[in-house]
Amino acid sequence: MKIAILSRNKNLYSTRRLVEACEQRGHDAMVVDVLRSYMNIASSKPEVHFKGENLPSVDAVIPRIGASVTFYGTAVLRQFEMMGAFPLCESVAISRSRDKLRSLQLMARKGIGMPNTGFAHNPDDIGDLIKMVGGAPLVIKLLEGTQGIGVVLAETKKAAESVIEAFMGLKANILVQEYIKEAGGADIRCLVIGDKVVAAMKRQAQAGEFRSNLHRGGSATLIKITPTERATAIKAAKVMGLSVAGVDILRSERGPLVMEVNSSPGLEGIENATGKDVAGMIIDYIEKNAKPHKTRTKGKG
Ligand code: ADP
Repeated sequence: MKIAILSRNKNLYSTRRLVEACEQRGHDAMVVDVLRSYMNIASSKPEVHFKGENLPSVDAVIPRIGASVTFYGTAVLRQFEMMGAFPLCESVAISRSRDKLRSLQLMARKGIGMPNTGFAHNPDDIGDLIKMVGGAPLVIKLLEGTQGIGVVLAETKKAAESVIEAFMGLKANILVQEYIKEAGGADIRCLVIGDKVVAAMKRQAQAGEFRSNLHRGGSATLIKITPTERATAIKAAKVMGLSVAGVDILRSERGPLVMEVNSSPGLEGIENATGKDVAGMIIDYIEKNAKPHKTRTKGKG
């Protein structure tokens, strides 16, 4: 098969591993920087151009689209979908998963457990908003944040009010969330492929920190997850419409609570912590499922 990997940099661990896994299986892998891709969307024949050349049509596309290039990246992915390529994750599902609030609303609708979460626009409503999610301590999150940046723990009601006021004053979109203290600065990253959790790791925040992101100094170890955690992760990925996803779960007294579903999960942490060939499993999934024109983004033939 001809497989395009949409990635800004071919030297990134995940990109390298996916190329390797393609080659090991005899596929032809091509790394395409989305920001150097361009297209004539009015053309009757959908095409993608790249650095002056018309890209050959491909059987499958693996989107590795960073949060900062979601808008442009999903447009390029859509173009590949219109050309009939099988996307590992569909453009609509990626756009959906990048909106934290929309994702939580979708998951809540399907009964997936999550921390109590509130959202408000007007500073006059802060008092009631805090009460609504159960009072301090609270976690306040910038909707546009990633890798733990813009996630703040407010220990008291006063601190929560000040932080929320400050963010609102900056016109930033935030959500306010119950703090799951019993998670003990740890979360679980479940790597879902299709309808299976193929690998899971526990990320533990460094001392004095509640955010377990590896980018914030957290450490990753192999963990055995419970059947409920497994079922929750699979359901969360399914609700988001993602065939590959990194589902982040907090262990709470009332069971697994989903924090986030990531559509371009990094492979380095999870492969190192679990010793599993996740990249290989992704390519195996493509081999089993790729068929032309299988997305909802229909082309003109
Ligand atoms: P990002 O998308 O920037 O990684 P997250 O929402 O995943 O932001 O939060 C970063 C980290 O902060 C999580 O991995 C988790 O360890 C911790 N965290 C986030 N929300 C909560 C919460 N409600 N209760 C306890 N810990 C939390």
